Amino acid sequence: MSDHALPIWMRIGSHEDFNFYFVGLCRKRQAGSWRWTEKPILRYAQAMSVRLPGEVWLPILAALLISIGSSRAWGPHPEITKAALGVLTTNDALFRQLGPIAVKLTNYAWMADYRKLPFEDGAELFYADDYLLFPEVTTHLDHILPEVKQTYRPYFKRALQALRTENPVNAARWIGSLLHFAEDTGSPPHAAQLRGDVHTKMENWVDAERIAIAPYSAALFGRTDEDALNGFNKRMDELIEFSKSRARRLQVPVAIGDRTTAKPIVLESALETSRVTADLLHTLGWLAQTNFSGNASLRGRILSQPGPGALERFPAKIVLHRTAFSTLTDTEGRFEFRNLPPATYSLSAFRPGSSLITTSVVLVANQTVALNVALPRSEPNLIRNGDFKLEWATMQCRGTRPFQKFKPEH
Ligand SMILES: [Zn+2]
Repeated sequence: MSDHALPIWMRIGSHEDFNFYFVGLCRKRQAGSWRWTEKPILRYAQAMSVRLPGEVWLPILAALLISIGSSRAWGPHPEITKAALGVLTTNDALFRQLGPIAVKLTNYAWMADYRKLPFEDGAELFYADDYLLFPEVTTHLDHILPEVKQTYRPYFKRALQALRTENPVNAARWIGSLLHFAEDTGSPPHAAQLRGDVHTKMENWVDAERIAIAPYSAALFGRTDEDALNGFNKRMDELIEFSKSRARRLQVPVAIGDRTTAKPIVLESALETSRVTADLLHTLGWLAQTNFSGNASLRGRILSQPGPGALERFPAKIVLHRTAFSTLTDTEGRFEFRNLPPATYSLSAFRPGSSLITTSVVLVANQTVALNVALPRSEPNLIRNGDFKLEWATMQCRGTRPFQKFKPEH
């Protein structure tokens, strides 16, 4: 390696399903510009990749899904989300944008507990990492204080972006990731940084059916993205203090196994978390109606014949290179982007069991461009983008100060 070459270790969602790492060398060229020139360990990772036919890995997938322990989770995610949705008015901007998909938030609020794993949604399976890892967050963040605070800003922004530019299902899933982090924060042991047995009891000793906050009226965090982000952070700080003090009051009852005393205190945190969640949903819906970065649209279909078994249930992912825009197709391969800045984009589409395709598309103001892409069949592979044909990281390896955003992983 020359003085001007620096290795970059970057976990990419699809590879991380099996703890694969993307490794590249960012090499300085003349005139001080950085570019990817080598990927020395790439071949090694490729050789290690698991290639299995669908019939074989379907049971593996089932085992993975079962292996998710619910014991470590703040139990009432669905009830908190439901309570929050229950106090939004029927003409709330969030409902106008998500339509009937809004109720799915009660399930999507689990998203972040499925890191590295497929998430089941009716007939569809998708990688939760598609809604957890993106250029602004390239690694999984803890759901407990203090690290969970790092999730608020990027996931809030990404959820807003999805509401403005993607279809309701994709928007709801991104909101689900954000809800998970916000709701986890309100769990007393998460706020008070308590781990172990105490943690599990403290956050599950609650009567979920008692979580309702009517007639609470949801508040707006702010009228611009930046104001709202600040308002959101402030509200989260208040929630942390609220639940930390509940955690202190819970220490003794939990230690002596007194559920009767513990439950109403945990419930207080669940109710306050529901109020914050209502504010958050209301704010996202309100903000997403304005502040578009453009008015160009792209609509199309990714045609492919994926491998047998559960592979058929995985959607394709579409990424616009060197931007923060990406989306997933529905089960029929349809996708759409709205409110994009007019420009010429390089677009890649990929799906498990199919090869990746990259094409160029010109988006014009006030117009909807139609694009159909057929993906060539490849060997069924559990790892999406398993041939590493998509290098999303490339966008960071340019200019004079590359990859500052990405810290090395161990
Ligand atoms: Zn969690």
